[in-house]
Amino acid sequence: MSTNYDVVIVGGGPTGLAAAVYTGRALLKTLVLEKQVPGGQIALTAAIDNYPGFADGISGYDFAQNFLRHAERFGAEVRIGTGATKIVPEADSSFTVELSDDTRVSAKAVILAMGRHPRMLEVPGEQRLIGYGVSYCATCDGAFFRDVPVAVVGGGNSAVEEGHFLTRYASEIHSIHRRDHFTAQKILIEQYMHAPKVRPVWHSVVEEIYGEKEVDAVRVRNLQTDETTEIPVKAVFIFIGWIPNSDLVKDLVETDESGRVAVNELMETRVPGLFAAGDLCVRPIYQLANVVADGVQAAVSVEKYLETRK
Ligand code: NAP
Repeated sequence: MSTNYDVVIVGGGPTGLAAAVYTGRALLKTLVLEKQVPGGQIALTAAIDNYPGFADGISGYDFAQNFLRHAERFGAEVRIGTGATKIVPEADSSFTVELSDDTRVSAKAVILAMGRHPRMLEVPGEQRLIGYGVSYCATCDGAFFRDVPVAVVGGGNSAVEEGHFLTRYASEIHSIHRRDHFTAQKILIEQYMHAPKVRPVWHSVVEEIYGEKEVDAVRVRNLQTDETTEIPVKAVFIFIGWIPNSDLVKDLVETDESGRVAVNELMETRVPGLFAAGDLCVRPIYQLANVVADGVQAAVSVEKYLETRK
């Protein structure tokens, strides 16, 4: 296996793989590091209905596999199960990237595309019951909870979309949100609110998740009345936002208060040769189409950057 690359892309989700299609087509020697599954979060999504050009929708798995094949067709090497553990800028303006398999590679440029992971509620019972009813992915775990009541926490696009997905399986969905309305896109809210199984629980927060071996109930506090109630549920699906996976570079690049990487419109970070794109970054919206576009922009910027270094 080679150890010298024109570009190393950290993260093999849609952003990283879109970048790899473009760097591959530009004949740059490209390595993509993906420590879990190619496609990242999107590979776990049941159906993608809002990616322009896919009029009938596409499953997340198929979408991810297409991205992978596309990147590999143009010569990108995709290492699955291997992550980056350290990125070291060198005096000659290249980077040494240390890998989770205790090897290292050298790159003339690096694209950061590590994405983000779900935020936790941080209430008693949550951590202990992950995998036993506490979940952050309805499309992954929803089918385990057929004909039983479940709770969904949050009021943004994720909560409403994933909650709607759960209407296929659960007997009822207690949709717990701290406001008196959802803030998701209108079309998503409409579909969700029309589903007969959905029971909004407004002005409310989860204070504790009960259950010895698996989830039995949640304790919910109404923020207006201060009243607490127990809702019997077999699962709690939590969608209260995301945390960027920027630990790897927090001492290298500029981040905002929530850890999102600051980039300009060319996807440049403050370090020459180090680019970042997609969910990891401060972006105006976090839609699949625009994080893919970010990956494309980062790749084109890398190409131009390497031209200037020749
Ligand atoms: P989000 O928009 O940040 O929404 C987070 C939700 O969780 C909000 O309702 C928030 O309530 C609530 N929340 C935050 N912290 C909480 C806490 N500690 N306890 C209780 N509730 C809490 O996150 P998201 O829905 O995951 O969406 C993230 C981004 O991805 C958005 O830009 C979204 O548009 C995009 N996305 C798009 C799609 C799509 O287009 N199909 C699907 C999924 C996600 P407050 O409003 O009161 O803060």
